[in-house]
Amino acid sequence: MTTLYDLLAGEDNHPALVAPGKPPVTYGQLRENVVKLAAQLNQFGFGRGDRIAIAMINGPELITTFFGAAMAGTSAPLNPKYKQEEFAFYYEDTAAKVLITSPEGIPAAVAAALPTMTLLTVSADSKGRCSFERTGGATYAPKPVELSLKDDVAMILHTSGTTSRPKRVPLRHRNLFASAGNIRGTYNLTPADTTLCVMPLFHIHGIVGSMLSTLSSGGTVVCPAGFNAMEFLSLYETFSPTWYSAVPTMHQMVLARISKHADVVRKKPLRFIRSSSAPMPGVVRERLEELFQAPQLDSYGMTEASHQMSSNPLPPRVRKGGTVGVGHGVDVAIMDEVGNLLKPGQIGEVVVRGPNVVDGYENNPEANAAAFTNGWFRTGDQGVQDEEGYLSLTGRIKELINRGGEKVSPLEIDDVLLRHPAVAEALAFAVPHKMLGEEIHAAVVLKGECESAELRAHCAAALAEYKIPKKFHVLTEIPRGATGKLQRINMAKFLQVGSE
Ligand code: ATP
Ligand code: MG
Repeated sequence: MTTLYDLLAGEDNHPALVAPGKPPVTYGQLRENVVKLAAQLNQFGFGRGDRIAIAMINGPELITTFFGAAMAGTSAPLNPKYKQEEFAFYYEDTAAKVLITSPEGIPAAVAAALPTMTLLTVSADSKGRCSFERTGGATYAPKPVELSLKDDVAMILHTSGTTSRPKRVPLRHRNLFASAGNIRGTYNLTPADTTLCVMPLFHIHGIVGSMLSTLSSGGTVVCPAGFNAMEFLSLYETFSPTWYSAVPTMHQMVLARISKHADVVRKKPLRFIRSSSAPMPGVVRERLEELFQAPQLDSYGMTEASHQMSSNPLPPRVRKGGTVGVGHGVDVAIMDEVGNLLKPGQIGEVVVRGPNVVDGYENNPEANAAAFTNGWFRTGDQGVQDEEGYLSLTGRIKELINRGGEKVSPLEIDDVLLRHPAVAEALAFAVPHKMLGEEIHAAVVLKGECESAELRAHCAAALAEYKIPKKFHVLTEIPRGATGKLQRINMAKFLQVGSE
């Protein structure tokens, strides 16, 4: 009993999904909807093993479709903002046979799907009952009605592609089920909890960190069409969430937007604020805790681990700022290059194991051979644990800057720069260098006047000489990947700074 359907164990009449301007969907209705959509997919000719692409904006319809697709075959949720070529790549890479969109459609997704794939649209009636309609493309003979099992692949996702080409990750029902349970346990989620789901539901953080964890606890997911800092306060007042999870950039946008409304927020306090997917600057953590009067808990996640690997715990357990906390249902350790586990205080590669970790990448024996050592999965992140097992991330191994043999963590430089009052965003990165191999530059977005010489002096006060960026690039915006991540390893190419 460990499929995504089994995870939907909430009380029949308790609201599972709510959204502005839409009828609430109870657990009873959601279960009914999911079984119906899965059977409809079987009738359209799709079953276990078939990949079902979904391109929709967030909302109850997307969540219901996601479950229906995962219970009939394998769901492949995609970013609805992709361009036609990107859709074509992901359809081909996942071998998708069918595309599901909303009736308004996503033109680029539809154009890339025709004529070889089947097109379906999903819509909900005034009571929130969903159904599919075929709107074009290929037709197939019906398949027998059959629901997925725990070892079936529930969802195909790609990694964010921060350090290499996105890798294809097959997440089985049992992986997602285990991860949702781990997150539920970490934060003691119960049916009394309501989450404001602001993360996109085509990325592991939103899917598991917000949506599946809440549904597995029998609580309520508020799912607006997407993240909008302007709308945050009115959603907060209307739905009274008890927690929300987001990437640090979104938390910063929330702070900027609602700092003046502390009275409103404190009338309905949160239990906790969760952050994951990217490093959380200390100053943002402090401001969030001050605004919401609730603990801010930083969590460490990745696609291959069905999201969460560790998190800072709820009080009364200690939360340690600057760390990503401890494993919950996941073993976390530090390993050296040849596979020995290291002691507290020793820096090495973070490795994890547990039922949430996938069996391997799909059709990628090279990546699998590199990723698994003695039953542990290598995360590609560098870190260190303290005596109590709290993990601090010190950088991504592929992003470490090797300056003439000195390994420099760019995160340390970002942190120093962000402490300057005129710096809004900072990103240190490697630039190829003839003598040193790599030299350090930094890109900054400024919120006040500041010369490079002042930034240099500011760095010199906190960093050894060799870690001070040789050059500062002032930008109006730092480019990000589709999931909001800074593209550190592409910066030199992006700014066209070559070998020196
Ligand atoms: P690719 O594997 O294709 O290079 P990616 O690793 O960015 O892309 P994801 O699986 O979306 O793809 O992201 C996982 C990574 O995000 C982690 O390995 C880690 O580097 C980073 N990360 C996640 N949570 C945190 C956090 N709380 N603090 C710092 N970094 C984090
Ligand atoms: Mg990765």
